[in-house]
Amino acid sequence: MKILKAMLGMTAAVAVSLLANGASAQTYPERTITMVVPFSAGGPTDTVARLVAESMSKDLGQQIVVENVGGAGGTLGAGRVASASPDGYTILLHHIGMATSATLYRKLAYDTLGAFEYVGLVTEVPMTIVARKDFEPADLKSLIEYVKANKDSVTVANAGIGAASHLCGMMFMSAIQTPLTTVPYKGTGPAMTDLLGGQVDVMCDQTTNTTKQIKGGTIKAYAVTSPKRLDIMKDIPTAVEAGLPGFEVGIWHGIYTPKGTPAEVNERLSKSLQVALKDQNVAARFAELGTAPSPEADATPAALKAKLESEIARWKPVIDGAGEYAD
Ligand code: ASP
Repeated sequence: MKILKAMLGMTAAVAVSLLANGASAQTYPERTITMVVPFSAGGPTDTVARLVAESMSKDLGQQIVVENVGGAGGTLGAGRVASASPDGYTILLHHIGMATSATLYRKLAYDTLGAFEYVGLVTEVPMTIVARKDFEPADLKSLIEYVKANKDSVTVANAGIGAASHLCGMMFMSAIQTPLTTVPYKGTGPAMTDLLGGQVDVMCDQTTNTTKQIKGGTIKAYAVTSPKRLDIMKDIPTAVEAGLPGFEVGIWHGIYTPKGTPAEVNERLSKSLQVALKDQNVAARFAELGTAPSPEADATPAALKAKLESEIARWKPVIDGAGEYAD
């Protein structure tokens, strides 16, 4: 009897929760949504998130508030969303680090492929190899010679293991076969402050964080990591042109929800993302920052799921080959 009662109780609970999910999916969103950015405010991921969140808020009729949860190369913020309630009110905007950290970290607080649902791809951002303004080398070739000759004193900023700046910095050190001292920050927003202040020498960071300073002449730019030169900085060579064969990387960004978020909610967010990516203001601002909105077909749950899976597979052998992991 007790068991029967308990079973009946359970059935009722399931029914209530289904009802709640169904009702909330139809009327979603009814209140403010939190978009977790797993890096500091003022950095490149934050910039992309705030632009898209503002536009999506208009479409959804509810405010999307950005919350910066930086640290451990983006894995703290991702973990925060993985354990949030799957109701569509806590969402994550993360980049390529979502894929690389799956292999880079020996232990994560979440299962990358099992802990999230997908909303869609947002953008793919090129990177730039930059240095403090008064750093001696004038071009990429002399930068390589200089850092090889001064490997014990040159410092490279990044946003922690798993960050895009970490990935690009590792690619640089591996390409020139010279390990350098890295300085981790909670995001490249604060790292840029130190680069401007001359406390750190070199950084590889996304154009969404470096364009303004490059144009203003407050930092030195050596190369872009895109296959072609960028319209907004035509005088900066590609890394391949400037002497680093195969050195190409684009930092793709996507929006995720916790596992178990109703499909209708993810679809609603996806539709809203598609509207935001067609917003003239978003497109214009992205163009000024050297990037572009993802095509509509990629701003979908299926496209982001496929991208994450293929990127985990793509980076795993590279990271395993380097044999350096974080705990
Ligand atoms: N995207 C990070 C940030 O917003 C930086 C990084 O990944 O390197 O600070």
